[in-house]
Amino acid sequence: MQNKNIRIVLAGPRGNMGSEAVKMVANTNHFNLVAVVDSKHNNMLLKDVPGAPQLDIPVFNDLEECLINHECDVLIDLTTPKTGRRHMEIAFRHGVHPVVGTTGFSEQDIQQLTEIANEKQIGAIIAPNFAIGAILMMKFSQAAAKYFQNVEIIEQHHDKKLDAPSGTAVKTAKMIMENREGMKQGHPDEVETIKGSRGGTFEGIPIHSVRLPGLVAHQEVIFGGHGQTLTIRHDSINRESFMPGVKLAVETVMKLDTLIYGLENIID
Ligand code: NAP
Repeated sequence: MQNKNIRIVLAGPRGNMGSEAVKMVANTNHFNLVAVVDSKHNNMLLKDVPGAPQLDIPVFNDLEECLINHECDVLIDLTTPKTGRRHMEIAFRHGVHPVVGTTGFSEQDIQQLTEIANEKQIGAIIAPNFAIGAILMMKFSQAAAKYFQNVEIIEQHHDKKLDAPSGTAVKTAKMIMENREGMKQGHPDEVETIKGSRGGTFEGIPIHSVRLPGLVAHQEVIFGGHGQTLTIRHDSINRESFMPGVKLAVETVMKLDTLIYGLENIID
């Protein structure tokens, strides 16, 4: 059964992801956007923030103050790792379920936040990739690895991305390794005449990172076998691609009493 009228506060409404998420929340019948948290437009209405949609939604620059003034069920955070972590702690204190797409949390962050979620028995979701197609690409790749041990990953992103390889590429390699013997891909005696030509490796799987303007987020997993190759590819063409995953996470988090890391853990 679907939760009716989930009350949502969204942090980061002017960002690339946040602005798309505001539209998704506003256009979803059973979601109710009660406030947004924006560092630069305290005490305004969202409609008065340059470039924002025409919505009479109050803007706070402090999440704590926002949650004292507005009852809410879910916090969607699409900001920065430092802010996202602080926001999660505030949300837990107020009994609000965090749904966090912000990337860059350390393993220690995840562990500590899981402890808080368990202690308070409040469900939370951190999903470094909300694109459901990307999650399926990872799952299909894991399944294919049972039959194809030879594999390389090529991930492509816009040139504003700071980290390489992408978290999704590493996660894909980790999932493949559950069905693959540890072995180095390529000829044992291969030599790179230009350093880095064979990409970075995760447990023997080469990962190649491409960074170019015009790209959003794309990944190809190429398996090789006798007389055949199998390519599993996913493309996020724009940030709309992440919104079905955000919506699913908001609906799911209401039923959880612990922290789930990764959308793959809530998709069958
Ligand atoms: P972005 O365009 O830079 O947006 C980030 C927004 O967060 C900015 O509007 C920024 O506002 C705001 N912000 C920073 N600190 C804040 C605070 N203390 N309170 C309120 N707002 C604050 O970045 P983006 O591309 O939207 O990405 C946001 C996050 O999502 C990043 O971590 C990115 O890696 C991640 N991401 C996740 C997915 C996924 O599928 N999970 C997909 C793409 C991106 P200011 O201008 O005031 O700094």
